[in-house]
Amino acid sequence: MERLTNYIGGRNVATENYLENVEPATGQVYCLVPDSGLKETRAAVDAAVRAFESWSTTPAQERARWLHRMADEIEKNFEAFAQAESRDTGKPVALARRMDIPRAIANLRFFAGAILHVESESYSTDSPRAVNYVSRRPIGPAACISPWNLPLYLFTWKVAPALAAGCTVVAKPSELAPYTAWMWGNICEAMDLPPGVFNIVHGTGANAGAPLVQDPRIRAVSFTGGTATGALIQQYARFKKTSLELGGKNPAVVFADCDYSAALNETVRSSFANQGQICLCTSRILVEKKIFDRFCDDFVALAQELVPGDPALETTRFGALISLPHRQKVERAVERARQEGGTILTGGDGVVVPGRCEKGYFFPPTVVVGLGPETQTNQEEIFGPVVALLPFEDEAEALRLANAVEYGLAATVWTRDLGRAHRIAQRVEAGVVWVNCWLLRDLRTPFGGMKNSGVGREGGFEALKFFTETQNVCIALEA
Ligand code: NDP
Repeated sequence: MERLTNYIGGRNVATENYLENVEPATGQVYCLVPDSGLKETRAAVDAAVRAFESWSTTPAQERARWLHRMADEIEKNFEAFAQAESRDTGKPVALARRMDIPRAIANLRFFAGAILHVESESYSTDSPRAVNYVSRRPIGPAACISPWNLPLYLFTWKVAPALAAGCTVVAKPSELAPYTAWMWGNICEAMDLPPGVFNIVHGTGANAGAPLVQDPRIRAVSFTGGTATGALIQQYARFKKTSLELGGKNPAVVFADCDYSAALNETVRSSFANQGQICLCTSRILVEKKIFDRFCDDFVALAQELVPGDPALETTRFGALISLPHRQKVERAVERARQEGGTILTGGDGVVVPGRCEKGYFFPPTVVVGLGPETQTNQEEIFGPVVALLPFEDEAEALRLANAVEYGLAATVWTRDLGRAHRIAQRVEAGVVWVNCWLLRDLRTPFGGMKNSGVGREGGFEALKFFTETQNVCIALEA
């Protein structure tokens, strides 16, 4: 069986222990992934420390060239990457082709360009006369830890700005979806990226992630994952700079004056894309009372068209969940919704996809109604294809419901009333607000969550700033 390797000090290296990597659509083990621990993370941080001086002083143009070369190689192997991402996660291959791999390439190219356009500030002081200038230097070896839902997309989203900014990196992908990170490591080895600039350590959060974050030589930690893990990372990181992109319980607010068809279609997409396993997915759909019943009926009809199927088929639009424990978690959440008094309008039970996928982890789009905002169903992140619909009377109630959770990652507003769109956008507690659209991303914009959805912002210059340390130099102009 194929054994993946760590990529440390410019070389692919084997480990002693391995974990089984399962294809979610079939439930079958298809490769082995290194079960790294302290020994491997230490070796990777050693390599990153050794490479730091040289990489941090490498001209930005040259660093940018390396990122472009990586993007070129992923582009050349586009189909292999898309197939691998689909097999590793259970997502439809069509989605991996349309979203994951193009975005990974775009991340590399975006930060390769952005690093050439950073500005620095200068302040003139007039009494006494002095000039201050602000410099930003790469902060040091950085740790990047990412989840399984958008593997290469999120991995590149962290690693690219770190490398562009001049940091060396030790990165840990999720052991549930490590394959495309391993392919990227192979590309780096083949292109002779200077040893230690970028290192990939595979393994579990507890065995590999925790010692990596705790290593005192790591200066910054960029983490994307669940809120509970984020709390641990913050403890382990102590005084390191941390960027935490965490969970969500994102509302879509649908007013009666919206473009009905656009709101309906996009809300189905925002609820069930990637089987609901995107941090930005909608999980609470707040609908103005006068269109609530019609919206529920139409929403359910469209959700039922998303029939779980083999992710490897071109026509499949809805694939498998990432793992058996995750499907069980989703099943428990639906059971809890029933116990709380909710009505399941569609879905609600795991399904079998016959043939190759009969042992896969499939769960259909599931729609719940009849639950108040205080229920656990409407409070806790499920991170699967389960949404709740709630009616609201007016704008004030919509806003109250939207903000009635501890999370604050993303919100979507559907209305033709421009004033109302702005009023809601300015008062909703969410780091990202989409009005009459969803997941429309401009990589220059800041990205991140409020409340328990995170600390710090990624994206654009925010990400480049994160991986740098700011220094002010004050020069007196008078003796
Ligand atoms: P987890 O928090 O379980 O894991 C995220 C990463 O952290 C994985 O690589 C994991 O490794 C690692 N990890 C786990 N425990 C530790 C630890 N003690 N020390 C160091 N690293 C650790 O999240 P999931 O992978 O389950 O991803 C789903 C979550 O991610 C959801 O809550 C979702 O909302 C959130 N997310 C947030 C996004 C955002 O931008 N805000 C984007 C995408 C997802 P391992 O897999 O081996 O456990």
